[in-house]
Amino acid sequence: MTTDLTDSYGRTIKDLRISITDRCNFRCTYCMPEEGMKWLPRSEVMTFEEIERLARIFVGHYGVTGIRLTGGEPTVRAHLPVLVQKLAGISGEAGPIDLSMTTNGATMRLVAESLREAGLKRVNISLDTLDREKFLRMTRRDELERVLDGIEAAKQAGFDPVKINAVVQRDVNENEIVDLATYGREHGVEVRFIEFMPLDAEGHWMNDKVVGQDEIVAAINAVYPIEQVRARGAAPADRFRYLDGAGVIGVIPSVTKPFCGNCDRVRLTAEGDFRTCLFATDEFDLLSALRAGETDDQVAARIEAAVSTKWAGHRINQVNFIRPGKSMSQLGG
Ligand code: SAM
Ligand code: SF4
Repeated sequence: MTTDLTDSYGRTIKDLRISITDRCNFRCTYCMPEEGMKWLPRSEVMTFEEIERLARIFVGHYGVTGIRLTGGEPTVRAHLPVLVQKLAGISGEAGPIDLSMTTNGATMRLVAESLREAGLKRVNISLDTLDREKFLRMTRRDELERVLDGIEAAKQAGFDPVKINAVVQRDVNENEIVDLATYGREHGVEVRFIEFMPLDAEGHWMNDKVVGQDEIVAAINAVYPIEQVRARGAAPADRFRYLDGAGVIGVIPSVTKPFCGNCDRVRLTAEGDFRTCLFATDEFDLLSALRAGETDDQVAARIEAAVSTKWAGHRINQVNFIRPGKSMSQLGG
């Protein structure tokens, strides 16, 4: 019997993001520093068995329907298909879970097929620029060609849809909004433009570096007319359809039009800390509870207590906003 996991504002949790590693083969400027990241010792990172047990509690006790693997870069975790197979086998009252992953795409050519065979359903691949020099500046890795090939590999392996995540920053890649839209149209992938959030490790985020949804939509609409598809609901992206039928784009306006009121999402960090918001300042250590021998019901009680503390919304741009002590790669974006 599942019960709803509902917070004190009436939002029911359906979506769980699990960071499976804090490590990464890129060093994107909006996420990590070039050097000096302190990695978690392996003994403090959740094992596959621990991830599976927590996932089963979220699905079995609380009817969570979607799980997304993230990081850090999830594909740097050894034997990833083994984890995917374990999670793909989890079913709730609503049927098998919607299992997806967010990746930088650099190794997708190598892993796409085995992940698909293991039961992964969908992938989002990050791509912020189509310019090789700029890609190197933004990710500190000369891997544009491998990522583009990784996107093709994901399509060939049968992932559908393949979505592209593009973080837009003022004076960095804002001049490529239309080029990225064109890429999406030509390659049959849905590009989702993400507003830059104050979660970069180096603390360089400033409000004037955010390119907002209205500006993104106007830039695309001027070249390819679009119309909004439907109300956003719990999904973070507002979606827009090309009037000529060439597909859809998404915009994730976390800063200019926060969607906190409909948020149905919670997160687990790689070290098994439970977070009820990207911007939460509190974490609840579920891994220690598992390792101390607590039963599923005891762990579930911790989850319920944590969810009851979920905020109404983040306070970016307000005077009382406090940046979380962790950056995106440590939180699980
Ligand atoms: N390494 C994988 C990747 O890059 O796709 C998964 C983890 S990454 C932290 C998840 C997503 O967060 C990526 O799409 C990335 O572009 C996005 N992201 C990272 N830092 C961000 C920031 N400061 N603001 C907005 N999005 C960010
Ligand atoms: Fe790595 Fe993803 Fe962060 Fe880039 S955004 S540094 S690929 S975790």
